Amino acid sequence: MSDIHASPAQDPAAGETHQVFNQPPPLEQYNAYTGDAVLRYWVRKFGGSWGESRLTAFGHGIGHHLQQAGFLANKHLPELQSHDRFGRRIDQVDYHPAYYQLLAHAIEHGHCSLPWNGSEPGAHVVRGAIAFLHTHADPGTGCPLTMTFASVPAIAVQPNVAASWLPKITANAYDGSNRPWYDKAGVTIGMAMTEKQGGSDVRANTTLAEPLDEAGPGKLYSLTGHKWFCSAPMCDGFLVLAQAQQRLSCFLVPRWREDGSKNPIHIQRLKNKLGNKSNASSEIEFRGAHGWLLGEEGRGVATIIQMVALTRYDCMLGSSALMAQAAKEAIWHTAGRSVFGKNLHEQPLMLNVLADLALEAEAALAISLRIAYALDNSDDPRQAALVRSATGIGKYWICKRAIQHTYEAMECLGGVGYVEESVACRLYREAPVNAIWEGSGNVQCLDLLRVLNREPDTLKALLAELEEARGRHPLFDARLDALLVDLADQQDIEMRARQLMESLALLWQSATLLVYGEEWIAQAFVSARLAEKQYHQYGTLDKAIDVQAIVRRAMVTLA
Ligand SMILES: Cc1cc2nc3c(=O)[nH]c(=O)nc-3n(C[C@H](O)[C@H](O)[C@H](O)COP(=O)(O)OP(=O)(O)OC[C@H]3O[C@@H](n4cnc5c(N)ncnc54)[C@H](O)[C@@H]3O)c2cc1C
Repeated sequence: MSDIHASPAQDPAAGETHQVFNQPPPLEQYNAYTGDAVLRYWVRKFGGSWGESRLTAFGHGIGHHLQQAGFLANKHLPELQSHDRFGRRIDQVDYHPAYYQLLAHAIEHGHCSLPWNGSEPGAHVVRGAIAFLHTHADPGTGCPLTMTFASVPAIAVQPNVAASWLPKITANAYDGSNRPWYDKAGVTIGMAMTEKQGGSDVRANTTLAEPLDEAGPGKLYSLTGHKWFCSAPMCDGFLVLAQAQQRLSCFLVPRWREDGSKNPIHIQRLKNKLGNKSNASSEIEFRGAHGWLLGEEGRGVATIIQMVALTRYDCMLGSSALMAQAAKEAIWHTAGRSVFGKNLHEQPLMLNVLADLALEAEAALAISLRIAYALDNSDDPRQAALVRSATGIGKYWICKRAIQHTYEAMECLGGVGYVEESVACRLYREAPVNAIWEGSGNVQCLDLLRVLNREPDTLKALLAELEEARGRHPLFDARLDALLVDLADQQDIEMRARQLMESLALLWQSATLLVYGEEWIAQAFVSARLAEKQYHQYGTLDKAIDVQAIVRRAMVTLA
């Protein structure tokens, strides 16, 4: 491969001591969709071809206009104004204009609505690609976008609430102003479950809900209590868990009451976080805040889990995107950098690292869009069962792998990867949050065991998916046989849950590549990830693998 970047001509200004050379230009001014051959392959494979003109327009915005917005929204952090200058409580978070620009672009292109509005088959796949591409501009704004998208099935449970809220949630219109939801054409939705004493175990929630007048589905309640994490507190409404007569129930709590007064949701402070900087995560208190009960009292977890299932899926997509962008940046940088007289991306050891990163990113995207395809076809019980069993596996595995992956990509950039102007820093700091929220690693494992025990059909659907790939690679067959033995053994299964998760994840990624992917990519992945002799760092692919071809496939093309 040759150097794809021409060295920009430079006219040294008077007084400069040196010319800058042997540094690539930033990866900007490209179409993030048409320039990504891997994404295009998987969108087409899973039925999203009809959406390619929409994706091309969206990818243009991401690559040409929103890269800078991503940097600005992460540099100029959200600020809480708890009171106005007269001392009145306002609970307003101010963002940099870039934040609003990012949200508007995503919402107007259907990030939150496409599968709920679209009559086209494959709407989840196209919307999945939009979410994936949006992360390339800024992952933090992905939080309110995901929650808004994912809230739809939970709100749909309650017809009187759904009738007024869903048209605005799915309107493809963004209005970031601080005014009542009913005055806006489009609204965004957040979620507040976690309390100080329990995040994984939400049954420990102490927030209380009392009926204002009558109790029952769709009625207004008054909520009193706290939430330890509430991201995106400027959303127009929040799905909240609270105890109604000691039964955990789900409510939609608007930021404004119907009489035009402010609903008393007090923002205590914003969290100072490791990453996810553009997204304000807050601690809040409900001081008699009004909210509508969604579904029956006591059915809170059953209601909100419909939202959580989709936010977990979006964690898969988001972390797949972090990996894809990290690999692209690493390939781009090394293609424009020479060391010891030769381009970095021509040197065998660097090629091995780059190819390994690209393989991992493709496998992550493949299973994420496989879930999108299953969501698009969820009236088929096998596809619905696959969503139920496999989403947690993908969430567990991809979000964990992204952490090491984004670091390794950063290392490919050398020292410049470690400075804040580099997007590599943002990707690396972002990576752990997808693993922690929406059910941390162990919670995903326990959830898998629960699902397998209570809904054994879901395991059958996943195993059927794996069996489809049998006979295509001896390493795959051997690992699948071993997994079946491990799954049949119930002894100490909780202790072994991470082992099962890892095997299931690797086999599912392998099967997806073997059945739906390019043959040579699949063979490379299986021989790397299912080999008996396992290495623990990236860049340890076998010499038989065509690393150059893998890197070429993953390299961004400019347009
Ligand atoms: C940036 C950020 C934004 C967030 N935004 C929101 C938000 O908008 N709304 C919201 O409701 N929440 C939000 N959260 C909270 C998040 O969902 C919780 O932090 C998460 O669910 C974990 O809960 P916890 O912090 O109470 O940890 P814990 O529940 O105490 O868990 C700690 C660890 O113990 C493990 N664990 C739990 N149970 C078991 C077990 N039985 N066996 C073995 N291990 C176990 C978990 O996997 C985890 O690793 C956010 C978190 C972050 C970091």
